[in-house]
Amino acid sequence: MPPPSAEAFRVRAEIDLGAVRSNVRALRARAPGAALMAVVKADAYGHGLLPCARAARQAGAAWLGTATPEEALALRAAGDRGPVLCWLWTPGGPWREAVEAGVDVAASGRWALDEAVAGARAAGRTARVQLKVDTGLGRNGCPPADWPDLVAAARAAESEGTVRVTGVWSHFACADEPGHPSIAAQLDAFREALSVAGRAGLDPEVRHLANSPATLTLPESHFDLVRPGVSVYGLSPSPEVGSAAELGLRPAMTLRASLAQVKRVPGGHGVSYGHTYTTPGETTLALVPAGYADGIPRHASGTGPVLVAGKPRTVAGRVAMDQFVVDLGGDTAEAGDEAVLFGPGDRGEPTAEDWARAVGSIGYEIVTRIGARVPRVYAGEDPAGETQGEA
Ligand SMILES: *Cc1c(COP(=O)(O)O)cnc(C)c1O
Repeated sequence: MPPPSAEAFRVRAEIDLGAVRSNVRALRARAPGAALMAVVKADAYGHGLLPCARAARQAGAAWLGTATPEEALALRAAGDRGPVLCWLWTPGGPWREAVEAGVDVAASGRWALDEAVAGARAAGRTARVQLKVDTGLGRNGCPPADWPDLVAAARAAESEGTVRVTGVWSHFACADEPGHPSIAAQLDAFREALSVAGRAGLDPEVRHLANSPATLTLPESHFDLVRPGVSVYGLSPSPEVGSAAELGLRPAMTLRASLAQVKRVPGGHGVSYGHTYTTPGETTLALVPAGYADGIPRHASGTGPVLVAGKPRTVAGRVAMDQFVVDLGGDTAEAGDEAVLFGPGDRGEPTAEDWARAVGSIGYEIVTRIGARVPRVYAGEDPAGETQGEA
C-alpha cells in the first residue's frame, strides 16, 4: 500500500480499509451458513472503531460486537443502526442508555439480567438480552450449574415484556490450537446449554460461539453467527491455524515512522538507556521516533525487527518512551527516511506477527496497543459508501 499522502509525519498507522473489507468477505466465505459479527472492541484492535466498523458493514458484517457498552454507544452516536452486541458489563453500567439505543446487551448472571430489566423499565422499552454461558473458558459467562436459573429468570422477564432473549452464546478457550480436547467439550456443553434454554421456552435469534480460529477451522461451531475479531484486521489468530496469507487474510495496519536523526559514531559507543548495546565498530545509528508510549513494546529492546531505508534491521539497545535506535552498520540514511515497523509483509517489512514472536506476545497485542499518540491514516475508503454486502 503506498503512503496515502506525502505529508511529513513522525509516526503513523496506515489502515487499509480495502483489506478490512476483503478480510470480512473471506471470513464470510468460510462460514457461508452463518451471519458475521465483526468484533470492533478496543478501537477495532487499534485500527480505529468507526472507519473499520463502516468497512465491515460495507463488506456484509450483519453484526458488530464490542466489549464495553461505551464502545457500542459510540457506534450508535456515529449513526450505526445495525445489530450490535456488547458483553463486558459491570454493576451500574449504562443499561438504560444501551436499551434506548437498541443495543443487544449480554448477561452472564442474575445481577446483569436484573439490571437489564431495570434498564428496560427506565427506558420504557424491551431490552434485547443475549445470555452467555461458560462452556469451559472459565472467564466471563454463566456457570452451567446456574444456567437453568438464569434461563428461567430470562423467560419470566420475556413473559412480562421487559426482555427479549435475542441470543445464547459462549466463547472458546483454545480454538487457536486445533484439535485441543477442550474444543469438543465446549461444543458439547454449548449444545447442552442450548437445549436447556429451548426446553425453558427461549427461542433466540442467534446462537454463536466461534471466534476467529473457530470461524476459520471449525464449521460445526458456526451455528447462526460467527464472531471474528483479529482476522477482520488481517492477522492470523495463531501460527497453528496458519499464516495470514494461507488463510486469505491481509494485514490492514502498516506502522511507519520517519527517521529523526542519522549519525556516525565510533566503535565502542553505548546506545540508549543502560548501554545494553555497544557499537562493534565505527557505524551509523538511525533514530526511530517511536517508543513504548506509542505502543512499541519495551521487550523489543535488542530484538524488534524494522525495515529502515529498505533493509531489515533490529532494534539496538533499549526501546525508550518516545524513541529507539537502529544500527545501520556500514550503510547510510538521512533524517526523514522511512522506517517500517510492520505491515502486510510483502514489501520486505516485518509483520505484527514477527513483532509478536520477537517479544513473546501475540499479534493481537502488538496492533491493539499502538498508542493514542499515533495518528491513524485511512486508505481504501469505499467511495460507494453506504452499500452493504458488496461481495
Ligand atoms: C475478542 C472476542 C472475540 C473475537 O476474538 P478473535 O480471536 O479476535 O477473533 C469474540 N468473542 C468474544 C467474546 C471476544 O471477547
